Amino acid sequence: MSEWRNFYDRTGEEIGRLKADRPELADLIDFYSKVLDAQKSVRERFDPDTEGKSAPLQPDDVDIDWKLFEELFDRVGALSAERTGRDIPSWSAVTAGDADLPRKLIEGLREGDTPIKDPVVAHLACQTLVPFLEAYAEDLKDSIEDDKWQKSTCPVCGGEPLMGRLHKETGKRELQCQLCRTVWSFKRMECPFCGCDEQKMLRYFYDEDETTYRVEVCDDCKRYLKTVDLRTKNEETGLIAEDLATLHLDVAAEREGYRKGTGSE
Ligand SMILES: [Zn+2]
Ligand SMILES: [Zn+2]
Repeated sequence: MSEWRNFYDRTGEEIGRLKADRPELADLIDFYSKVLDAQKSVRERFDPDTEGKSAPLQPDDVDIDWKLFEELFDRVGALSAERTGRDIPSWSAVTAGDADLPRKLIEGLREGDTPIKDPVVAHLACQTLVPFLEAYAEDLKDSIEDDKWQKSTCPVCGGEPLMGRLHKETGKRELQCQLCRTVWSFKRMECPFCGCDEQKMLRYFYDEDETTYRVEVCDDCKRYLKTVDLRTKNEETGLIAEDLATLHLDVAAEREGYRKGTGSE
């Protein structure tokens, strides 16, 4: 079975188990499981031309099937509207009056900038990019120069990390891309959002009963990143399930005045 199919199937099982353990998250988990199904169906139909391309992707390298993109955006938008009761514009309405918006969306990835002002619509557009960028990442992963990269953004697509993790054996810090799910190495003592490396500005906290997860915070930019310590986990869990399983840490971090680096609402 291909790696990406495996990822979707495993994530579906993981969040299904999470739903049984944490009924209070049922509504959100149902939403993400439908989003995953929609992303998977697009992933099945998208095969990028990566001949001669290597990581990091340049904006001109990215050739999205915008017809498929529109289909997925409208599907994900309808799911979001159904869950929240909020009106979500169709993709054709989002791009109305700015035919250049798709190009700006791709170019903005590298600068961590989006041309879409509404944060909910921007988040849905990111969810829509996922299966396309994942497909590129799968083809380009062997061309990543992980030892040399050491940047806070994804070595394939330029996206920001959704979560961090500490390597099972070495304890080395790794970041995981919110868009293409690539994992890469990063310095232990540096904020991935503002680059601050002053020890007194960086700290982490955790729940006493759950030392596997920590919230790394930066007192310079006031952003945070949830991190999984794989050294204390028997079995590795995928990024999506880890993010959903630790939503209470987002609440705790926000209560302390920190802002999520990136990711789910
Ligand atoms: Zn990426
Ligand atoms: Zn910072």
